[in-house]
Amino acid sequence: MKSYRMYINGEWVESCRGTYFPVHDPSTEEIIAEVPDANAQDVDRAVAAARAAFDSGPWSQSTAQDRGRLLFRLAQKVRDETPRLAELESRNCGKPIVESEYDMADVATCFEYYGGLATKVLGHVNPVPANALSLSLREPVGVAGQIIPWNYPLLMAAWKLAPALAAGCACVLKPAEQTPLTALEMAQWFEEVGLPPGVVNIITGFGETAGAPLVQHPQVNKIAFTGSAAVGKQIVKMAADTVKRVTLELGGKSPNIFFADADFEAAIDGALFGVFINQGEVCSAGSRILVERTIYSRFLEAMTEKAGRIKLGPPLERETKMGPLVSKEQYERVNSYVEIGKKEAKLAIGGSRPASPARGYYVAPTIFYDVDNSARIAREEIFGPVAAVIPFNNETEAIRLANDTPYGLAAAVWSRDIFKVFRVVKALRAGVVWVNHMQPTYVEAPWGGYKQSGFGRELGPWGIEEYLETKQVHINLDEQPIGWY
Ligand code: ADP
Ligand code: MG
Repeated sequence: MKSYRMYINGEWVESCRGTYFPVHDPSTEEIIAEVPDANAQDVDRAVAAARAAFDSGPWSQSTAQDRGRLLFRLAQKVRDETPRLAELESRNCGKPIVESEYDMADVATCFEYYGGLATKVLGHVNPVPANALSLSLREPVGVAGQIIPWNYPLLMAAWKLAPALAAGCACVLKPAEQTPLTALEMAQWFEEVGLPPGVVNIITGFGETAGAPLVQHPQVNKIAFTGSAAVGKQIVKMAADTVKRVTLELGGKSPNIFFADADFEAAIDGALFGVFINQGEVCSAGSRILVERTIYSRFLEAMTEKAGRIKLGPPLERETKMGPLVSKEQYERVNSYVEIGKKEAKLAIGGSRPASPARGYYVAPTIFYDVDNSARIAREEIFGPVAAVIPFNNETEAIRLANDTPYGLAAAVWSRDIFKVFRVVKALRAGVVWVNHMQPTYVEAPWGGYKQSGFGRELGPWGIEEYLETKQVHINLDEQPIGWY
């Protein structure tokens, strides 16, 4: 078992109280590490370090080119160390090693993208009528508090840190308590790649004791949060007292819509991939599978048959396609929804713990069908490998069902009729819409939700906007006195 310290002001430190909490491997249920248990006092330390770095340290004098090159060096480190990082990621969160390797490539690409974007942040000259020059300057928002979930631990850290650093902000990052390890490993390279002390601080701790004080801290200018809708709502309230800038990426109950004219084989694959990738622990999971009535029973049968062949196993085995859920708590939460589903709908497959592997928080791919869109398993985010299959009769009904949800993160539509596809794309109330696919995500394109899935956008040029303020500068060109009084 490895004992970690956290990273504040360029130093590896214990928590002020000197206490630690355990980190588990969900495939063995064993403790693999311990990390400091940060509280409000530690948050104060981290914020003070970030504040000093932003307000007066060398970071405040850094050029966009400096910041860009630094992000390129960090990306290269991640590429060089991918085997080690991917293995640690899989051990800590349970996802299959092949998926972790994709994640590490995405982490590096994210740092590279924002490394390049750092030098492309442009202001404006405003065409004012007076004898004046009017400018809009873009400036970093200041100290950013960043709170992230456990499903893509290092990738979520990259999505938060990369645009913030490109913009010139200083950061206090709090990984999820379940999965702090890869972010701490990455922090080992911060000094080497040229990050001055205090620019990125990583505090390990729980939501209520370390996350909430960060959200409430008067010296923090912005909070970027990815996590559950319940916590997102608390964050908006907590941030109100200090009028912080807030961006939220919350849950979803995303519809994956299949019309009868879709390519059948691709559709079956797409339905399974949409909901079971990463054990279903995906905010954009296609957890409501809407299928046109004319293909419904054939679709359900093919999907169930193929779901039964998904290879569950230890995350580090390369053939594994589904690992354990991240924690005992998540395992119990998902199983409680499975029990609810058994009362609300019909079970096609799954619904219990697989016989093998014998240990670990595994849940078999589970498919419920004839689900009513008002059922709890169709309305509430489960965040596990549980699909709700819902039939529909026509395009109008498909759109109505798809949009009948408090969430609006993502949606997908499958058909070979381009007229129908584009009508549905326009009608869907979701921030990300896929056509004849579900889940591919690009750093170049905007990511974020409608409705209760949050606000603000990450990735692409949109992502850096959320870390920038706009300053209007009016330069008078008329040397005469105003002459008003
Ligand atoms: P889950 O319940 O699936 O773990 P959460 O939304 O609780 O999802 O967790 C996402 C992130 O939010 C984690 O880093 C967690 O520590 C943090 N968090 C949880 N509760 C709070 C809170 N009250 N204030 C700030 N952050 C929180
Ligand atoms: Mg929680």
